[in-house]
Amino acid sequence: MADQQLVRLLEELVSIPSVSPEYVENPAAAGEARIAVFLADRLAASGFKVELDEVQPGRPNLIASFGPDQPRKTLLFEAHMDTVGVAGMSRPPFQAAFEGSLLYARGACDDKGPMAAALAALSRDRLEKLAAAGVQIVFAGVMGEETGNIGAVRLVEKGLRADQIVVLEPTELSIIHTHKGMIWLRVEVGGLAAHGSNPDRGVNAITGMSDVMQFLHRRIAEDQRLRHDPVLGRPTLNIGMIRGGYAVNIVPDSCSIEADRRTLPGEDEAAIIERIRGGLVELQGEGRITSHSVRVIKVGRPFQTAENCSLIRALKQGIEQAGRKPRLEGAAWYSDAGILSQIASEVVVFGPGSIKQAHTADEHIDLDDLQAGCDIVRRFLDGMADGSRQGEG
Ligand SMILES: [Zn+2]
Repeated sequence: MADQQLVRLLEELVSIPSVSPEYVENPAAAGEARIAVFLADRLAASGFKVELDEVQPGRPNLIASFGPDQPRKTLLFEAHMDTVGVAGMSRPPFQAAFEGSLLYARGACDDKGPMAAALAALSRDRLEKLAAAGVQIVFAGVMGEETGNIGAVRLVEKGLRADQIVVLEPTELSIIHTHKGMIWLRVEVGGLAAHGSNPDRGVNAITGMSDVMQFLHRRIAEDQRLRHDPVLGRPTLNIGMIRGGYAVNIVPDSCSIEADRRTLPGEDEAAIIERIRGGLVELQGEGRITSHSVRVIKVGRPFQTAENCSLIRALKQGIEQAGRKPRLEGAAWYSDAGILSQIASEVVVFGPGSIKQAHTADEHIDLDDLQAGCDIVRRFLDGMADGSRQGEG
């Protein structure tokens, strides 16, 4: 049975709409400001120093810290405050519905359940013990995760410091210690228009783009031969969009594609983009296209935390003490951990709930998992307070 205060907290969190404004069914439900204020009040009441950082109008990050100004160690919990939209949901999205051990609502597992599990563990007496052991706890509620990880990028730009980071996301209580990164590119090529009855007088940009795509597939095949990660597998390429041409009887003078290249830890994003540019220069030199451009839409870094680092050992211990078997895994999806790995070498993604229920019409979380997540964080923190006093970790 889940603790009533923990369930009540999650009920409150899901009752505060915080839909990412890009999902615009209902403007009144948009933005993270309300939930940021709720979190700020709650954390201030527990003794946290609280700051709201307005990243975009009405869309703040919340940063709260507890503990010494010169800590021996800073542990950051990061959770995103935004949710995806609510169109087509099977139940009222902003009101917890209970069925058996399940709680249904938008954000139940992504990301308010994992957020609640950590918040409920951050009690005043536990925080005081950690502070006495020289451990500073930072809780960051970020905006804009669902649309470009902009809140996490802002944390890094602001110079936030941490030694260890737990990104709270629904991982079914597995410790995710690595995931791939991504490069999203828009490639445009130019040709020369001509009448379709005289194609030799023109340069067909669609045919040229087909050469570009063959080049991209040769490149990824080569990268896949050279690179393999035991957990994440191989790098990948998906060409997800193509656009070009006007009419069947016109030689097209432009064509564009969007490509999604997934990267492994250790790959150099700039080098990958440079090699693609090099291929385009070559095709232009051969007269297959008349111009080209490559625009980077998004770069997300991969991350990989060493399996035997002190953060993972401590979290594993907390999981064992809560009566569960620790699981260490890689993930196929992307998260703020990629961005936050720039500021700390020990980063994991962890939390109750399943990514399978995230973004769905019947998003829910199992309250037994929620409780287990909270118990694990409590034991993890208590172990850290004890271990730090003994000079470990
Ligand atoms: Zn999420």
